[in-house]
Amino acid sequence: MVVFLALLGLIIGSFLNVLIYRLNVPKAPKWWQGRSVCPHCQKKLLWQDNIPLVSFVALGRRCRHCKNLISWQYPLVELTTAIFFAVTGWNPVIWALESVFIVIFFSDWIYGLIPDEMILVGSFAALIYNLQFTIYNQFLISNFKFQIENLAREKITSEMLERVLRVDCELKLEKIDMDLYNSLARFAPFGIGNPEPVFASTVTIQSLRTVGQEGKHLKLVVDHFDAIAFNRGNLIGKLKAGDKIKIAYNLDLNSFNGTQNLQLKVKDIIFQNLQD
Ligand SMILES: [Zn+2]
Repeated sequence: MVVFLALLGLIIGSFLNVLIYRLNVPKAPKWWQGRSVCPHCQKKLLWQDNIPLVSFVALGRRCRHCKNLISWQYPLVELTTAIFFAVTGWNPVIWALESVFIVIFFSDWIYGLIPDEMILVGSFAALIYNLQFTIYNQFLISNFKFQIENLAREKITSEMLERVLRVDCELKLEKIDMDLYNSLARFAPFGIGNPEPVFASTVTIQSLRTVGQEGKHLKLVVDHFDAIAFNRGNLIGKLKAGDKIKIAYNLDLNSFNGTQNLQLKVKDIIFQNLQD
């Protein structure tokens, strides 16, 4: 593959030599017109004198007809192009950009000119190059989306999407005291790998009210314990003092005005069918 790309680079490089000469020398024919001629004697080059690198060496750097020196530009451009192509790998848009760069570089070096044509072609190639990325990224994104959605359909069941609250044990509220809280606190810190213990108790509501902005949270007293249910203010109309409910909760130490007291941080409430 590298050899093939280098050979391709040599051939393209040979064409770039034509461009470098014909785009910069006013009396030269248009780049697509006719066969190459010797810039000194204007005699047409034979096909065997037009082989990249090989002819340069075979002819001993001299024109077959007038024996004038052939410029180093020719093998240099051909070699440069060959190396660029071989290093780049299969990427025609990059080849175009490289070719433009080579023509501009040698034109500027030899003639002090940058052909307008190369600016146009270069801009266009750069545009395509950019577009390539945009399109390729779009392809990657939509492909990823497709794959991940298929995987999700295949692997995720509806049971997996239900939130499950794991309860560690049922607890009678009279067992809760600072000793229990302090013992549990020794398992801290809690997090995903070490979830905070969740208890469940059946309790009777003594009083309840909403707290926080727009009554967002529910504050209860159940069996002489303070309890807070965050984001459950909406339950205020469904519960009343005297109701028997089952709650799942963490033990929480509430500091208020310098005093600390235990409260139940309610995670879930079951209140249906529990009323007497
Ligand atoms: Zn000649």
